[in-house]
Amino acid sequence: MHPRAAVPRRGGVVHIGEAMHELPVTRSILDIVLRHAAAHAVVEVRAIDLVVGALSDLEAEWLQLYFDHLSRGTVAEGARLRVRRSPLRFSCDACATPFTAGRDELEDARCPVCGSRDATIASGAGYRVDSMEAYG
Ligand SMILES: [Zn+2]
Repeated sequence: MHPRAAVPRRGGVVHIGEAMHELPVTRSILDIVLRHAAAHAVVEVRAIDLVVGALSDLEAEWLQLYFDHLSRGTVAEGARLRVRRSPLRFSCDACATPFTAGRDELEDARCPVCGSRDATIASGAGYRVDSMEAYG
């Protein structure tokens, strides 16, 4: 065990780097859905469309299991989660052109304009609640 490093008096950065896990993510998906359901006088949510970043390791099966559990007794009980993987978004380091690539193309990703292989990942790790199929 390493002794825990103390944050300097003047303040400092505490590196966390903690992966998000399915349960808290599912909880926030449900919160978002219920908020929108209430705003639209929804009585039943049948399906929820999620967009999950290509780099995210969220497992659709686990999301559904947790969701089934957490949504009991709410208007979203029994709703099906439809997970879509979004492509990775890059920004070219040389000419700043934005472009996308699939997870399996990560190694060969290159700028379509200047051909540079130096690019920064702009997004691909997050997730988003896109829409829901609801009945009033
Ligand atoms: Zn470029």
